[in-house]
Amino acid sequence: MAEAMTPGDEDDDRETSKRQRCGDEAGNSADAATSSYTLDGPGDEDYFEAYDSLSVHALMLSDEPRVGVYLAAIKANLESIQDKVVLDVGAGSGILSMLAAKHGAAARVYAVEAVPGMASLARDLVLRNGLQDRVTVIQGRIEDVELPEKVDVIISEWMGFYLVHESMLESVLVARDRWLKPGGVMMPSSARIWAAPVEAEPLRREIERYSNLHGLDLSPVGEAELARRLREPQVEAIEAHRLLAAPVLAVDLGDLHSLKCGGTAEFSSQVSFFTLRAGHAAGIAFWFDVGFGKLSTDKNVVKLNTDPGSPPTHWQQTVVYLGVFAPVEAGEELSALVKLKQSEENPRQYDITVDT
Ligand code: SAH
Repeated sequence: MAEAMTPGDEDDDRETSKRQRCGDEAGNSADAATSSYTLDGPGDEDYFEAYDSLSVHALMLSDEPRVGVYLAAIKANLESIQDKVVLDVGAGSGILSMLAAKHGAAARVYAVEAVPGMASLARDLVLRNGLQDRVTVIQGRIEDVELPEKVDVIISEWMGFYLVHESMLESVLVARDRWLKPGGVMMPSSARIWAAPVEAEPLRREIERYSNLHGLDLSPVGEAELARRLREPQVEAIEAHRLLAAPVLAVDLGDLHSLKCGGTAEFSSQVSFFTLRAGHAAGIAFWFDVGFGKLSTDKNVVKLNTDPGSPPTHWQQTVVYLGVFAPVEAGEELSALVKLKQSEENPRQYDITVDT
């Protein structure tokens, strides 16, 4: 990784780049002027560096709800994979490529991974499992690499916290527009963000203590502490009992076969909840689900659901705290304008705002 990722090399790379971007015509990659979107900006070096760590990949491999759903999706979509050509975008350890070859009986799998250390690990693991005749590991960014042929299936695990953190979906859409045959299959093929108001009773009690600490009113300390703790969206495991209302759909990316490249820069959604009980609304929790299968037929859709009631995953849930603990009654309507906007300083991250 060092030779490709040193800052000097990065600059050289950018000048002569054939990097595909959203908005580029296939085969016209050098014409950056037509680009509507690029992800080789600030934050990218840190992004790929974070994936140059075996423990990050071990965490993902040990997330059985995650791996298990991909395997179930491969088995449920066998007719799309068997004897077909598969592209794994962001192969990491090569797990999805190997599952597609071993359990999906794919004819050929191209496992594309940007991080050199991981690509070489994937190569070793493919060999160890005797899959080298069918799985080819290609080191490079999907936006840069050339494949020997177009593919029938694109499989990728691109989801970040609250679905879109990391902005990796854009790379998958670039891959789709360039390498997926007409009528080819995206795995996953749908993605949605859900939202629900949540309580945070231990935190509320902790902050409230400052308004009467041994008979003294120290509430400004509590307020400052609350502001400090809740400045950033928090990734945490929400127990289902903390939900104050049934979840509602905040963002539906729709069919990933047709989602426009560049279509994930910004989302805005007016959401309304009806509280199921009285309590104190502390924030809005977000999570996602993705579906595997042709949406039009919908019968064999396998879902990865990261909601608070589902088996826990490493994504957990993400809470945007309101900075207050708003008392609510049962049956009350709570409305909020939710915005997720790719950060200008680091397009790998989103600024999330919740206006109530
Ligand atoms: N597919 C693996 C790894 C998922 S993590 C698994 O399911 O366990 C995402 C991986 O995609 C990381 O290893 C990251 O380095 C890689 N990646 C992200 N963007 C990429 C891009 N544009 N081109 C190639 N690899 C990319």
